[in-house]
Order: sequence, then C-alpha cells, then structure tokens
Amino acid sequence: MYRILLIGLLLSSFSFEACLQSNGAQNDTPELVVDQASFVDEKGDTIHTIQKSEDEWKQELDAQSYQVLREKGTERAFTGKFNKFKQAGVYTCNACGLSLFSSDAKFNSGTGWPSFFQPIDTTHILEITDSSHGMKRVEIVCHRCGGHLGHVFEDGPKPTGMRYCMNSVSLDFEPADGTTED
Ligand SMILES: [Zn+2]
Repeated sequence: MYRILLIGLLLSSFSFEACLQSNGAQNDTPELVVDQASFVDEKGDTIHTIQKSEDEWKQELDAQSYQVLREKGTERAFTGKFNKFKQAGVYTCNACGLSLFSSDAKFNSGTGWPSFFQPIDTTHILEITDSSHGMKRVEIVCHRCGGHLGHVFEDGPKPTGMRYCMNSVSLDFEPADGTTED
C-alpha cells in the first residue's frame, strides 16, 4: 500500500513538473498578443483585428499551418513552398489574409526559409521577445490575427540589414497581376 502511494506521489510530481515547464514557456509567449480591436496602418487604413478560439482556428487551418501559426512551430528548412519561390506579388497571412511582405523585399538567405529584408507595412506585424529554446530571439506575428510567422534577425542584406525569416505555411501569396487585394 505504502509503495503504491509512493509511486503515485512520484508520478504526480513528475506531471506537476511537466506542467510547470509548459506554463513557463507560455508565459514567455502570451497567447493573446493582439489585444486591441483595430489599428491604423501606414496607409491610413483601419485594420480590424481578429480574435478566434483555438477550436475555430483548428477547423480553418490545415494541421501544419495550425501547428506553426497557432502553436509557434517551425517548418523543416528547405521544405516550404515559398523558399525558392520567385513570382512577383504580395505575401499575405495564411490565417487572415493581411498583406505582410512584397516579393520586392524577398532575398535568398540560404537558410531554407523564405526571407525578406522588410515588411510591406511595419504596422502589419508585431515583434515579440522570444526566450524559448534557450535563445533570445524576436518573434514576428501577424498584427491582425496574432498568428506566428517566424523570427527577425539583424543579419540581413541592405538596405535594412534585417532578415525576416518566415515559415512558408504561415504565408499565402497573391500574384502581382491578381485581382484580389489584402
Ligand atoms: Zn493574420
């Protein structure tokens, strides 16, 4: 009896520890990153933010997009559809459609992820300090829906010196000759 109790205690302390760890990670990257109802972008357009439950996102997004956009995952390098993609147009958020990057700002970083030296509008993205995985990084999320897009590093090319390292599954693409916008 005593032994069973002891094992039970051991097991529960293990799971308690696991919970603590995952809570710690969540504190670094708060779930609700977009907390205002709208914002005005550089063009002067009012962008209404989007708040959906995780269940709603799960229904709308395919499994890989959900894992990256909502659970801050990372696609494997060199596997994304936009890594070597070179068409002219605008990259949008794969969750909400907000315009994020112009193909004019795309460059070949050699990292295996689509990389840009600047966003299409600095208000369309949010920067969040990310301390996960023992690294200090700056996470980039969509300002409209809070979806995780990737990270930004200060080793990019001219003119900005920035490298926005994005996940292809977080992005969608609108060709320059397309008729839809935003
Ligand atoms: Zn979005």
